Amino acid sequence: MSLNAESTAFRSALEVIRAVEPRVADAIGAELADQRESLKLIASENYASPATLLAMGNWFSDKYAEGTVGRRFYAGCQNVDTVEALAAEHAKELFGAAHAYVQPHSGIDANLVAFWAILADRVESPALKKAQVRQVNDLTEADWFALRRELGNQRMLGMSLDAGGHLTHGFRPNISGKMFDQRSYGTDPATGLIDYDRVAEAAREFKPLILVAGYSAYPRKVNFRIMREIADSVGATFMVDMAHFAGLVAGKVFTGDFDPVPHAHIVTTTTHKSLRGPRGGMVLCGPELADQVDRGCPMVLGGPLPHVMAAKAVALAEARRPDFADYAQRIVDNAQALAEGLVRRGTKLVTGGTDNHLVLLDVSGYGLTGRQAEQALLDSGIVTNRNAVPQDPNGAWYTSGIRIGTPALTTRGLGVAEMDQTAELIHTVLSQTQAGSNADGTPSKAKYVLDPALADKISKQASELLTGFPLYPAVDLG
Ligand SMILES: *Cc1c(COP(=O)(O)O)cnc(C)c1O
Repeated sequence: MSLNAESTAFRSALEVIRAVEPRVADAIGAELADQRESLKLIASENYASPATLLAMGNWFSDKYAEGTVGRRFYAGCQNVDTVEALAAEHAKELFGAAHAYVQPHSGIDANLVAFWAILADRVESPALKKAQVRQVNDLTEADWFALRRELGNQRMLGMSLDAGGHLTHGFRPNISGKMFDQRSYGTDPATGLIDYDRVAEAAREFKPLILVAGYSAYPRKVNFRIMREIADSVGATFMVDMAHFAGLVAGKVFTGDFDPVPHAHIVTTTTHKSLRGPRGGMVLCGPELADQVDRGCPMVLGGPLPHVMAAKAVALAEARRPDFADYAQRIVDNAQALAEGLVRRGTKLVTGGTDNHLVLLDVSGYGLTGRQAEQALLDSGIVTNRNAVPQDPNGAWYTSGIRIGTPALTTRGLGVAEMDQTAELIHTVLSQTQAGSNADGTPSKAKYVLDPALADKISKQASELLTGFPLYPAVDLG
């Protein structure tokens, strides 16, 4: 019997790798086996298609391609030009954007590109003006000093970390938090929702250069039309980081006021989360910021990764097909089914539910920290991650929340019936887990007690749940 193309391709690739370093081939094979067996509820992960994966393993990896399409600093980039132009074209068509920059290596890099583009566009600085017209040699020491001070002291207003914002939106562990004078808007303590009047008030008081919307752990839609009005009212540039929900925008689940592209001056994203492409990033913008965005490399990015741009072109072509819209809708249907299943069993959810791809559990009702819950679920074959909840009493390390998302399981084909069963498994584990104590008898935020037999039983049920939904069904590594 002859093998299908996917199996042949991956088997051959592993055979070639095995001849050089068998441990790498083994690890790659083990990774597929592990992914096939785990109930992956990590909201930021997905499974890229075989075509997307295969587009990354080739000679494009050998090319330097600094510059942009048709304007490279290296010779021989004609084929890189083809794939970069294709990826940008697909992105523009898919999202209705005037300009797409597909070189960023990750979401964080895409944000850096956007920040520098906005600074270069907006900061009133005679020194910067000189630098922009390439009279860098004319800048005096005093000019450079002024430039550093001007660029490094701008204001950014973004969503607070514990309300679901991202580190790159002005928080200290990221350069954005060291560079910008940052202030945050949170969510209403009673509803857990963004209070747009409060955002407007903060904007009026703080007068940011950049207003950032977007999140990693907010389970609701954001009204980008209102956010743009707020930005306009204070003269801020409005940036949306749609890293998590780009797939829902691509699949036309988020439209009108909830589609960031027509409302934002600049949009950044990852390509590997709900968008289901290769690990990478991307920036979309109008013509006004296009030139500055295209300076991303070498301004803040290392050399482009042509093999990943090739894979972006493949994945974006997939996202333009009608079945991707169906996939995006199923992601949300599944998240809502999971949320309803949990609420019915008494689990406390931040905002009480979801209208995107993620659900944020407040596990304090089970008497657990996020860390204890995350580990107990992992012992039971359920992969999630702990996450702070608004005003989290346990801080960002232990937390009181568990974030779960449905993009990955939806790719495998699980539906609302399986989501209810998943809710049952999660609730069973959490309600049967007890917080542990330290050697001196004080309560521990990390230790927990869970009967290993129960963890084992749930693990088996979790893998049974997956048996009807094979991951990469066409790939047989033999
Ligand atoms: C995941 C994420 C990022 C970072 O993406 P990386 O590819 O990990 O650098 C940035 N912003 C938001 C909102 C995210 O969720």
